[in-house]
Amino acid sequence: RAASLDRSTQGSNSALSSEEDNINVVVRVRPVNDKERSIREQNMLEFPGKGQIVCQGSAPGQKPKVFSYNVVFEPAATQEDVLEYSGIKRLLEMAVQGFSCTAFCYGQTGSGKTHTLTGPPGLVESGASPFAADHGLVVRSFVYLFQLLRDHPDCHFVLKASFLEIYNEKVMDLLNPGTSRKPLQVRWSKDSRSFYVENLFTVDCEQLDDLFAVLEEGMRNRSVGSHSMNAHSSRSHTVLSVRVRRDESSRDVRCSTHGKINFVDLAGSEMTKRTNSTGKTLEEANNINRSLMVLGYCIAQLSDGRKKGHIPYRDSKLTKLLADSLAGNGVTLMIACISPTKSNFSETLNTLRYAARAKKIKTKPIVKMDARDALILSLQREVQALQAENMHL
Ligand code: ADP
Ligand code: MG
Repeated sequence: RAASLDRSTQGSNSALSSEEDNINVVVRVRPVNDKERSIREQNMLEFPGKGQIVCQGSAPGQKPKVFSYNVVFEPAATQEDVLEYSGIKRLLEMAVQGFSCTAFCYGQTGSGKTHTLTGPPGLVESGASPFAADHGLVVRSFVYLFQLLRDHPDCHFVLKASFLEIYNEKVMDLLNPGTSRKPLQVRWSKDSRSFYVENLFTVDCEQLDDLFAVLEEGMRNRSVGSHSMNAHSSRSHTVLSVRVRRDESSRDVRCSTHGKINFVDLAGSEMTKRTNSTGKTLEEANNINRSLMVLGYCIAQLSDGRKKGHIPYRDSKLTKLLADSLAGNGVTLMIACISPTKSNFSETLNTLRYAARAKKIKTKPIVKMDARDALILSLQREVQALQAENMHL
């Protein structure tokens, strides 16, 4: 099938254009791999277009199930397609304007989360150029972000990047492995009204190479610190954050905004079930996927428009850190990663259901600015309104 992407639904970032629809859910289907091909595994998915995925019934006589999303990336879609049509460009534009944004990959181990974010194993760590063809969404986003900054010569920008891992509900700094044996604390900041990680190493990034170096360093430290990369990455979450401070001074306005983009590579979604498996210590059983389970609860609560109840952000490290994007002030992109073959089918259905639920969430994003600047801006607006009124008199 030639069309690698269902282009009928893409529009110009239409998924994020409405004020009330700021969770964009896309699905990426990875190609059949060599092993699956060698044993001729059955392909369970069809793509009729319009963002739809048809899953064949797993037993004879069972009806096919149809799911629909903002965009579906079929197996032949390229890394560039994901940059262009996932809606990430809109998130980056909003981060530059002062919104908190999060892009996360969800799916079972082996479904292509890391590939989507950072490309094939070892690519970033090999020191490949930031313009290498296989790079994933993170490096492509860095390149786009710097393009955006060049489009605003009237503003001054300060970018700060950090990269952490959550393993067993412990936050580890991937940029400062010397201290990584001592978990960092997540605390509440009254000033910014959001959670932050205390003593997290942050790197000032003046150019593309600086951001790229942050990614490379963190990914290197991640693989050095683990005995089996695969087992480790299926249990841990990584969060790479870029904070974007924008200082704008025009004739009589001085204003700073504080935007952010998080890239989150989640633990394998199958882990929520394995949490109860035997052979784990009690702490591990409780903790290993607490973050993933709580993220699921938060999404379920947020997506149920009728309930205005308590959203349990505070119940896990990951949801604390993502609260300001998920909670209604920001913009979120969920990339649900799935494999097309029969042996993965029950996890694929779980992921598609989870993604369908996330699609129902409504948020109203707000720009974060300094309290003083916000006051000045609102007074200036008042003055302008009064002046306009005077003109009418
Ligand atoms: P996950 O992070 O979800 O566990 P990975 O991203 O590590 O999964 O993907 C598993 C394997 O499949 C990797 O070798 C990866 O390079 C490959 N892969 C995943 N998605 C794609 C894709 N879209 N195109 C080519 N290879 C892919
Ligand atoms: Mg991975």
